Amino acid sequence: MSCYRQFSEEMSKLFRAVIMGPPGSGKGTISERIAHSFGLKHLSSGDFVRENIAAKTEAGVQAKTYIKKGLLVPDHVMTRLLLPRLEEMTKYSWLLDGFPRTLAQAKALNSACDLDVAINLNIPLETLKERLRHRWIHPPSGRVYNMCFNPPRVQGIDDITGDPLIQQEDDRPEALVARLRHYKDVAKPVTDFYKAKGILYTFSDTETDRIWPNISTLLNTKIPTIQSDARCASTH
Ligand code: AMP
Repeated sequence: MSCYRQFSEEMSKLFRAVIMGPPGSGKGTISERIAHSFGLKHLSSGDFVRENIAAKTEAGVQAKTYIKKGLLVPDHVMTRLLLPRLEEMTKYSWLLDGFPRTLAQAKALNSACDLDVAINLNIPLETLKERLRHRWIHPPSGRVYNMCFNPPRVQGIDDITGDPLIQQEDDRPEALVARLRHYKDVAKPVTDFYKAKGILYTFSDTETDRIWPNISTLLNTKIPTIQSDARCASTH
């Protein structure tokens, strides 16, 4: 038994969740709302990757070579980068966003800690295509803008740094369908894995604002006693 699991069991009232969804599914927005409403720490695997790249850790240097080519970071690099960070979070309730993306990652996470809930966002392909068509990003920070409903203050410029924004190659219409299909193929074994464990909750709609009340209702039934403990832990 890993020390992390042992510690997790001692702190059994803490709440652990993952959120899964394709690019453009509103995962980032929903994660922020969950973290804010339920007092969970929002852990983003993309942020961990960017921090490791900036700090030039060994895993960060390896990850960079894949990200530069627009590829996913291999499972063994990702788990090496992420699991130690989770071990620092043993006192907190958290929501993990962006990990696991593959079955191997789900199994690695499972051997480190027990999850309470896996949230799966199921958004129609046409909606995703429409959202991603208008998506521009600030690569160093991972900030995402949508030219229709969340535009930057100055067109093409990041609000915080003033850097130029880019449209990712794989957000362009030609690459999009293949990318979303690939996501579906890789995510299916992960959702099956959580389904078999009885912790998968899938939410389907075209609007984040219609999905959110259902997620909030679910978490209200799952978190009640946990939440106050997590808040206490975060103030110590
Ligand atoms: P994100 O901010 O979630 O889009 O992540 C930024 C980049 O980090 C992704 O495009 C991947 O290259 C890498 N990354 C983040 N999480 C993972 C993961 N779970 N598995 C593999 N690569 C990841």
